[in-house]
Formats: sequence, structure tokens, C-alpha cells
Amino acid sequence: DRSALEHTLTTLDGRGYAGYKQLRGTHELPPGDAETTGLRLLVDHVQVDPYAPPSLMRVQLDRDAADLPEDLTADARGRTAVADFLTRRVAEAARRLSPGRPGDGSISIGRPGQQVLERTSVVIGAQHVEARLHVALPAAGRRIRGRAAARLLTEALPQIAASTLRHAALDAAALRRHVTLHRDQQHLRDQLAGAGLVAFVADGAVLPRRAGDSDLPLDSSAATPFRSPDSLRVSFDLPSGVQVTGMGIPEGITVIIGGGYHGKSTLLRAVERGVHPHVGDDGREWVVTRPDAVAIRAEDGRAVTGVDISPFIGDLPSGTDTRRFSTTNASGSTSQAASLVEAVQAQADVLLIDEDTSATNFMIRDERMRRLIPADREPITPFVERIRPLHAEQGVSTILVAGGSGAFFDVADHVIALDSYVPTDVTEQAKALAEPTSSVDSGEGATETLFAAASPRVPEPGSPRSDSGPGARGRGGRPKPARARGRAVIQQGGDDVDLSAVSQLMDPLQTAALAHALDRAAELADGRRTVAEIVEELLHRMDTQGLDSLSPHQGHPGALARPRRHELHAALNRHRGLRLR
Ligand code: ADP
Ligand code: MG
Repeated sequence: DRSALEHTLTTLDGRGYAGYKQLRGTHELPPGDAETTGLRLLVDHVQVDPYAPPSLMRVQLDRDAADLPEDLTADARGRTAVADFLTRRVAEAARRLSPGRPGDGSISIGRPGQQVLERTSVVIGAQHVEARLHVALPAAGRRIRGRAAARLLTEALPQIAASTLRHAALDAAALRRHVTLHRDQQHLRDQLAGAGLVAFVADGAVLPRRAGDSDLPLDSSAATPFRSPDSLRVSFDLPSGVQVTGMGIPEGITVIIGGGYHGKSTLLRAVERGVHPHVGDDGREWVVTRPDAVAIRAEDGRAVTGVDISPFIGDLPSGTDTRRFSTTNASGSTSQAASLVEAVQAQADVLLIDEDTSATNFMIRDERMRRLIPADREPITPFVERIRPLHAEQGVSTILVAGGSGAFFDVADHVIALDSYVPTDVTEQAKALAEPTSSVDSGEGATETLFAAASPRVPEPGSPRSDSGPGARGRGGRPKPARARGRAVIQQGGDDVDLSAVSQLMDPLQTAALAHALDRAAELADGRRTVAEIVEELLHRMDTQGLDSLSPHQGHPGALARPRRHELHAALNRHRGLRLR
């Protein structure tokens, strides 16, 4: 007794590829065995030809049949972790059970990296568990291979679903560990502010990665595990009963020093990534950072639109007003100033800055240079003079890697030295070297406000929108939707939004979500809402309607992962089509 779907696919055999369009809609999948009852296939989009992006399908299993433990799925964090776990299992099963030969088709799912993020790939709903799949339908030339399609959709696909979406088929202990770890990490993140900390790095953490282009941990035999200096060691008791111990980086200004190649950037990078939860065995699962920590770097060439960079950059030779600064081509120092001000206005409470990726003239200016170039000929007030007022006025802490200059000793609350990857607290020694006559303003007793309240930035209706280039508009003169190209680029019409410097954007699927967010932002821009209000509205939709709400598509939303508020701002702010009123 063959299913209706199998029948349809067999009759399509040998027809033109467009015949697959018939599949659109809902299909009950055959109960190959008792376990797969309650399994449905929803075909939302069928690819037009074998070379187009794969078809979008969802497979649903009733919650009864899935039988996921209630205590794991009762809260949003639990559901995020369960969905992340199921996504990883579906990805494995799809690799294993998808046919190997080209032409036989294939099944895949948006693949997660080392971070546990809210994703569209698996949804734990009230009625069913749903996996959103990408299915390349089998073809010979441009003809349908109906029997291969039947094997793919009525055999492989139910097997994938039955072996991944049912609790009975899963490693129940591993699922529970995954959820428990996620909840513990998020709980720890919640505790940081109350403990006066901006970040936590556990003893035993493995920070270095396998390679510069890999997010996987370095082999533990090659890595020196992290060990906290005694003076900064703290412990947390977590809901699961686990206690973690490690270095707490306090609020205020922390400078990381040490010789070249002693692990400074590696530590800072792990802290950057610590805004996201990580999977077990990552090595950074207990590197936990406040959620609003933002990495800032120089990014010459970026666009800046209407940002008040006057705390850092005064009168420019061109006579440009830096209280509402715009450029299509920022310099190293102006780009870093703009990114910093944008981050603070987007509610960043911790800045993470590495000398390796900073503009020197933005960071410091030495005595000899001060003597040669009079203050009124130098528009830049270096960060070293603003770092304390930022903390005093705005409550913004900074973690800074500075191996090449002692200028920040004067303003640091804590100085941590790395020696062969092992940190020691050298605050006392560094303070002994600080210069009492330094020109650096402590900022603590300052009366004037350096960081004035942001004047509202209101995008023009329909902005940001690319109008340049031949590719800007599609059929009917409507603007083409934005598309992600890997992790670091969003293409919209003739414009590319370059996100390569947005280092906390971890996952290409977050970039895919940001691409949709740019389109939604352009719809929300009505000439009254500010950039900040638009971003808050998008976050509100994600919170109340889920991540699917960013997608323009009904049903299968595409593979997306949730970006933070800060990456939403970063994408909007880098868009060359952002026009303000
Ligand atoms: P720095 O910024 O101080 O110059 P990096 O952080 O770039 O140094 O690290 C230099 C090298 O050491 C990198 O290849 C990095 O992967 C490696 N490394 C960093 N921390 C460790 C560690 N704890 N154990 C082993 N190797 C490490
Ligand atoms: Mg470095």
C-alpha cells in the first residue's frame, strides 16, 4: 500500500523538472513503521530547475509522538537548546541518510556552528516539532527522477525525522546535558552584572582555536588551559548544582598586556565570543560575557551616517561638523570613533578593543607628538583620554589589549599580564609605573558632559535602500530583497554591506537574518521612527512572534539564526543607502 505521495512521484518520473511544482502543499507521510505515525511533509517552495537553490520543505511530527520531556521544553531557553540539539542531530542524519550520488537529490538543514543560538531550523511548537529542510530534488538532465524522489521523500526523509525528532530515538542523557549546560551558561551570564563583572573565564577553559579560519578548539594536548590569577578568582553556583571557578573581569577598565604571541588576542577574542552560549566540548563553554559587550575596531573605508563623533574628533580640516558626521569612506580613526559611538548608543555596556585592529592615532598620542603638533592642529582626542569619562558618565567598561604602550596604565583599574598564555594580575606594578604628571584626564571629577545624549537619527521613508547600480531593482521596479553572501557580506541591489569587521557576528545564518532585517527596517522607516526604534521593533517581533517574523516567506522561513541588537545596528549603520532626515 503505497502512499499518495509515492504514487505522485512515480507518475512524475521522466517528466520535465517543472512537474515537481505539483508537490506544493501538505502530505501525510506513510507510517513505514509504527514510530513514524503523525509525520507530515509540508512543501512550501519547489525549485524551478535542478540548478536553482534547493526546495524548501518542513517535516512535522506531533508532540505526542515526539514525546520530548516537558521540563526541557517548558521555557524559552530550554526550547532554544532542545531545538539546537535536534538541529545538530538532523544535520548528522541528513548527511548519513541522504543519497550520495549526484542526481539522487539530497536533504540538508541550516548547519549550526559552535554557538547555541535561536534558529529557524527546528521549532518546538505546542502541537508539533518541526524541522525546516532544504531538499534538492533528483534529476537526470532536466527530467524528473520520480523513483529517486520517492526514495528521498518517502524513505530517507521519514527515517531522518524518526531518528532525530523522537525522544525515544535520541541520546536522552546527551539532550539533557545540552539543555542543562545552556541554562547554566545563561544563568551565569545573568549573574555577571550583579557581581560587578563584565566577563568570566573559567579555569580549565581552552581558548585557542585549531586555525585562524576555524572555530573548533585547539587539541587539548597543544593548548594551555586557562588559569585565573588568584586575585581575580571567583566562583558561581549554577542551577544544575555545578560550581564554576575562574577569572572574573570587573567593571571598569581592564588592560591586557604581555609579549607578542603570548595569547592576548586569543583571550580577548574568547571574551568577544562569550556573548553567545557555546556547545559542550568547545573549550569556551564557560567563557561568559555580558550580553551587551561589543568589539570595536578600525575599519577604514566604511560608511558613516550622521554619527556624533565629536568626543573623539573635533574640527576637521574640511570644516565638517563632527557632531553629525557622515562619510562614504571613513579613515581608520574616524571609523573606530564612529563604531564606538554607535555601539554606546545601541546600549553597549562593555567595549572590547585589541591593539592589533585599532588605529594607533585613535588610541594614544605620546608626549613628543603633543609637543610637535599643537592641540589646535590635531582634531583627534585619543581614546586614552576618553576611556574614563566613558565609564564615569555612561557606565561603559572597557577591556583593552595593549602590549605596545603603557599609556593606559594611568587609567586602568586592572592590568592583567599574559606570560606563555598564563595570566597574572600586575595592577600594582603597572600603577607604580603610571605617570603622575600625565596629561590624561581621569574624567572622574569632570563637570562637562562629553557624551551628549544622542540626537535622534531618523531614516528617510524606505531607507536604507540601495538605489545605485543596475541590480538595484527587480521586476516591476520593486527593490530587490537583500541577500546574505556568507558571514560577512549582505548584498542589496547594487550595494554590498560589508560586515567583515563585525567580529561578534558568528554565523552566516545570523547574516541571513540580518539581510531580512534590513528589508524589514526599510519597511518600518516612515520618516518618524529612529534607527533605534526600528531595531527595537525588530527585536520585539523576534521576541513575540519568533525569528520567523523576519522572513518574507510564509511557511519555511529559510535558515536563519538570531542576531543581537548590536549586529542589527551594525548592519544598518554600515549600509551605504542609509539616508537620514
Ligand atoms: P598575542 O595577541 O599576544 O600576540 P595571540 O593571542 O595572537 O597572541 O596568540 C598567539 C598564538 O598562540 C596563536 O596561534 C594562538 O592560537 C596561540 N595560543 C593562544 N593561547 C593559547 C593557549 N592557551 N594555548 C596554546 N596556544 C595558544
Ligand atoms: Mg594580538
